[in-house]
Amino acid sequence: MIRRVVCGVAALMCAAAVLEAQAPAVTAIRAGRLLDPETGRVLTNQIILIEGNKFKEIGPNVAIPAGARVIDLSRLTVAPGLVDSHNHLALTYKPEPENNVYYYTYVQDSTALRAIQAASNGMQMLSAGFTVVRDLGNNGNYADSALRQAIDQGWIPGPTIINSGIIIGGMGGQFFPTPEMAKEHRIVYPEYLDADTPDEIVKAVRQNILFGAKVIKICVDCKPYGYTADEIRLFIREAAKAGMKVAGHVQTPAGAKNAIDAGIWSIEHAGALNDDLHKQMAAKGIWRAGTETPDTLAGHPVSPQAYQRTVAGLKNAYENKVQLTFSTDADYYVAGKTRGEVVMEFLKPWKDAGIPTPDILRAMTINGYKVADIDKVRGPIKAGYFADLIAMPGNPLEDIDALKGVQFVMKDGEVFKRDGVMTPEKFFHGGPVNGWRIR
Ligand SMILES: [Zn+2]
Repeated sequence: MIRRVVCGVAALMCAAAVLEAQAPAVTAIRAGRLLDPETGRVLTNQIILIEGNKFKEIGPNVAIPAGARVIDLSRLTVAPGLVDSHNHLALTYKPEPENNVYYYTYVQDSTALRAIQAASNGMQMLSAGFTVVRDLGNNGNYADSALRQAIDQGWIPGPTIINSGIIIGGMGGQFFPTPEMAKEHRIVYPEYLDADTPDEIVKAVRQNILFGAKVIKICVDCKPYGYTADEIRLFIREAAKAGMKVAGHVQTPAGAKNAIDAGIWSIEHAGALNDDLHKQMAAKGIWRAGTETPDTLAGHPVSPQAYQRTVAGLKNAYENKVQLTFSTDADYYVAGKTRGEVVMEFLKPWKDAGIPTPDILRAMTINGYKVADIDKVRGPIKAGYFADLIAMPGNPLEDIDALKGVQFVMKDGEVFKRDGVMTPEKFFHGGPVNGWRIR
């Protein structure tokens, strides 16, 4: 009120002062090496200018404006943020008390508790360098929407979340609930939406959109009564009304065939895929979120045969030029590791499949932005894009494991991690600074 009175006296000067006060902060980053995953090249001694939450200019001779905050990363390699294209941040199953059976996690942990856990997992992911996560269901009663909204409103730091809400499937979803569970819908039932008829399919998609989903996730073939290609097309049409894509959990070759015939956006999990299906996926440009599990995670053994199949499948997909994404399904606790550190362990199958490091990096960046459907606004370090970037010693183009040493993380122009230490205070706000209307 007082301010308004004063403004009335010297309106022009006041307007100028307010404008100056509101001018977005300018940050200049001195990047010793700047990695471009698109070309697979490293440029040296670049200056990255950031205004507010976006990149403004990048180049070797960019002038640093007076008063800009200067961050010296001249001894590090700067790269775009990483993407995990398949995770579940509001799910962590554990040896204790549920013996790693996630069916029981749903009984043990409330949605409220899991939402708070998701906030923590999001920060753990961001600290490891993951600025985008596709979060594909099994998040209780929309804990994933709550996580995304809290990050978007500026309450907590976290990756950009592309979340699916509740997974939609034929009756029972991925589980085999008892009749008591299935009919009363009281236990394990926030985890799946039953949709067995065209009407139910439309309604389930709409429910997820209403409650904050940004992608639609379906169980293609979790039951003998899986979806036909026509039913999948109905999902795709209904989701498209809201500009959303459909991701399909697939576990049988017949289910994969239906999903491919329908022109699904992405196939989640690779166990059912083979040479023929890979060729069809490549021809149609269908994304492969293979969720390849390493054989080195303490407490989560993978048989040598299963691991060999995983690696051979990934290699075959690469040889067939299928569009690959780095995707983990890392939704469990591994002793002593953050969620982000667990996810980094999933580099191993990519190395074992002999995928060249530039292509692993593309799967973790460019392809991740594309499968998340955000590549027009976020991801690349380019003028006009949201200012997300990471930095680390070494060169991930030569040794992909350099990614495990991320020392610096910027998200939306704010520094989240510096010199290896998380400094998230800039992200915490008492109110919804980015708009309470975020849904
Ligand atoms: Zn999953």
